[in-house]
Formats: sequence, C-alpha cells, structure tokens
Amino acid sequence: MAKYDYDLFVIGAGSGGVRGARMAAATGARVGIAEEFRYGGTCVIRGCVPKKLLVYASHFHEDFEDAAGFGWQVPEARFDWPSLIANKDQEIARLEGIYRRLLDGAGVEMHDGRAVLVDPHTVEVGGRRMTAGIILIATGGHPFIPDHPGIEHAITSNEAFHLSELPRRVAVAGGGYIAVEFAGIFNGLGSEVTQIYRGPRVLRGFDEDVRATVDTEMAKKGVAFKYNTIIDRVTKRPDGALDVALTDGSALEVDCLMLAIGRRPNTKGLGLEDAGVALGENGAVAVDVHSRTSQENIYAVGDVTDRINLTPVAIAEAMAFVDTVFKGLPRAMDHRNVASAVFSQPPVATVGLTEEEARAQGQRVEIYRSSFRALRHTLSGRDERSMMKLVVDADSRKVLGAHMVGGDAAEIIQGVAIAVKMGATKEDFDATVGIHPTAAEEFVTMREPVAEPEKQAAE
Ligand code: NDP
Repeated sequence: MAKYDYDLFVIGAGSGGVRGARMAAATGARVGIAEEFRYGGTCVIRGCVPKKLLVYASHFHEDFEDAAGFGWQVPEARFDWPSLIANKDQEIARLEGIYRRLLDGAGVEMHDGRAVLVDPHTVEVGGRRMTAGIILIATGGHPFIPDHPGIEHAITSNEAFHLSELPRRVAVAGGGYIAVEFAGIFNGLGSEVTQIYRGPRVLRGFDEDVRATVDTEMAKKGVAFKYNTIIDRVTKRPDGALDVALTDGSALEVDCLMLAIGRRPNTKGLGLEDAGVALGENGAVAVDVHSRTSQENIYAVGDVTDRINLTPVAIAEAMAFVDTVFKGLPRAMDHRNVASAVFSQPPVATVGLTEEEARAQGQRVEIYRSSFRALRHTLSGRDERSMMKLVVDADSRKVLGAHMVGGDAAEIIQGVAIAVKMGATKEDFDATVGIHPTAAEEFVTMREPVAEPEKQAAE
C-alpha cells in the first residue's frame, strides 16, 4: 500500500499547475489536481489568450483606414461586440477542453472544486480528503480592488471579457500591463478612453524611451491620459453612467470604469497556516530558488509566489520543480533576462536591462537608438513611429538590454532575447546580416551610439 493517495497533488490548474502535473505524471508519479473554476487559469480563461484576441479585433479599425493608401476602398465597416465575445468564448472553451484532455491523457486525476490544505500532506476538495507526498500550490492571483466609495460600480479585466455591450466611454485606472493593453483595446474598438494613472507616465519600470514612445503614440491614437491622480469616489447615475471623481479635483463621466491597478496572490482561505506554509511581506507564498516553501514537502510556482508574473515563467518554474523533485535533477529557474511584451497599441517588447537599470548598476553603457516610421506607414499615411534601443556594456561589449515599441515588437524581441540570453556582444549583432526590408533589421544596423552629451542635454 502506498503511504499517500498521490505522489503529487497540485492546487490550481493554470499554466504552472497543469504543466507541473503533466510533467510529474510523465515520470510515473501518481498525480491529482484540483481546480475551483476553469482549467487553463488566468492566461487561458481571462488573461493572455482572450486579451490577445481582443487586441487583434481592435486593430482592424486602423487596418481598414490604412488600406486606403494601398488603393483599397473599404466600405464603411461595422463592429459587433457580441459576435467577438461569442467567438472568443468558443475558442476559450476549446482551449479549456484541450487542457482537460492533456491532463487526462497524462493520467492526472482531476478534482473540480476548491482545495484547502488540512495539514502538510492532506488536502480537502468538496468534503473529500486526500493525501499526497508532495503538494504544489499554483493558485495564481486576482485583481486588486481599492477601497473607494462606490468602487463596486467598477469592473476589472475579469468582467471586461464578458461585457454585454461595448461601452461608449471607458475609464481605465492603472498604468501597468493590463491598463495600457485594455486602453488600447477599447480605443481601437471605438470607445472613448481615458486612462487614469497615479504617476507621470505609464509603464513604470520600463525603459524611459519606451515609456515616452508609448505615451506619445497612444495619445496620437486618441487615448486621453489623466496623470498624477487616482480615483477618489464613484457614483452611479440613474441612467447607469458613472461619475468618477479623481483626487486632483477633476471628474469624468463614463459608461464603464475598469480597474487595472495590480494583482494579488491567491493565498487566502487555502489553509496555508495549517500546513505551515509561510507568506512573504507581499502576501505571496515565500519560496526558495527551488520553489520550495517553508514546509519541506510543499512547493509553489507562478503568480501565487509573485516573482515574475508571466505564464512562461510559471511554466518554467514548474518544469524546474519537476526536474528537482521528480527527476532527481535539482535546478533553479533562471529569472534573469526574461523577455516580455505589452500588447499595447503600438506594442512593446523588451529583454534585459533598461538604460536606467544599467546606469544604476554603475555600468558604463553605450546606447543605440533608432526612431523611425515603418515602411507600411509611408503609404498608409499613419503618423506612427517605432522605437528600438540597445543598451550595451561599454566595457564587455555585451548587449545588456533590447527594447522596442512598434509593430510586431513581441515577435521580434523573442529572437533577440536568445542572443541576449547567450551573452551576445554588440559586435555579434553588427556581424549579423539584416533581413530587408523589415523593422527588425534595425537591431543589427544601428552603428552610432547616442552621444552622451546630447543624451544628457535631452534629459
Ligand atoms: P502592474 O503591476 O503591471 O501595474 C499596476 C499598475 O497599477 C501600476 O501602474 C501601478 O502604479 C498602479 N497601482 C498600483 N496600486 C495602485 C493604487 N493603490 N492606486 C492606483 N494605482 C495603483 O499590474 P497589472 O494589473 O497591469 O498586471 C499584473 C501583472 O500581470 C503584470 O505585472 C504582469 O506581470 C502580468 N501581465 C502580463 C501581461 C503580458 O505579459 N503582456 C499582460 C497582463 C498582465 P505604479 O507603477 O506607480 O506602481
């Protein structure tokens, strides 16, 4: 008789949990998984995937306009929000089915319900208790909702995917990934959008040239920014419109207020205390480099640990966990030089250090920067500029960071990220022959560094 019901029990069937469960099962381990909502987690159900579909949808607006410069006469286009949402829901349901089938095919037993830890080796799902040698917590996060009068009238990204109609006027609060992405989505689909952010410019933490370009280009597309302010109170009118009063004394009248002011780890009511799992200061599960918690048989991966909150990172953490615990190949996930993209309009993608981070580390840096109008827009007539930038260590010549704002940024930076991860030098980039005509070739044809004095004068 085995000592436990399972070798591994996974709580949460999102990107990290599903990958951990499948890979562990592939080693011959007996694996159970519990999910209280839908299989696929934030990314598949109400994050990356549906968001990207909405980004595609919103881009057609400009594509139709741009077509005229290429000789196309497009009859007046009409957009139907319910069709988009229905098609998106169908695709998400298909993907959820795939996730379930993958788990089933791997021999993972699925328990649909909320799991709570009873002790370090026991979980309870829907009144049924099960034991496991190892437990993996992969419960993800949820949107943070601040405490302002009337905030119950606001929605988060969770609800944005299910609105019954496209709001005519939208306010989006926040200046991070989700806020700029949804501001772009609503704006592209035809809503009047105001973005409210507490700082002076969106995307804090990104390279300053990236932030400046995004700010300028989003404004050109029609997004209005309310900077250096936050929501004070929200009042709903009898006709359903919302009055959003801001702390700077101004007010907005909108049909929808969407909050995107950060996410919090899902750690409440999980029985973590009963299992001896300690939380960090930010309420996330505290883990070591092997994703092990303060309880030796309990591990945690993904957003619940609040390290780098991205799906591919959760998956990579889960793979390292399986190698370490089930394959006897201990290894830590490498969180350095993780590339990421913001699917704003225009999109942003980045890998490695920003200029500010490199300088703050005391590094002597050379900056290469290019700002240009993409070939497509010479005929479309669209006034949109792209920006690319390399941050180079002046001594070792290594490319420390690559940043882009412009069409296909995410597709381009993914390849550049391999070079940066490998430690490529600026000379390696220079020795690479470009593909012409592309925007990507700028990354291998930037010859002259930005002159330091000019840079300083510009600051
Ligand atoms: P972010 O942490 O990216 O941004 C939160 C934003 O809200 C920041 O602008 C922050 O301001 C602001 N903020 C925080 N607290 C308050 C407050 N109390 N009042 C007003 N404003 C506040 O969170 P998101 O919710 O946008 O996204 C969560 C995470 O999900 C991201 O960090 C990312 O890891 C992941 N994600 C990734 C995507 C991708 O890969 N494309 C897409 C979407 C999400 P400040 O900057 O001043 O702190």
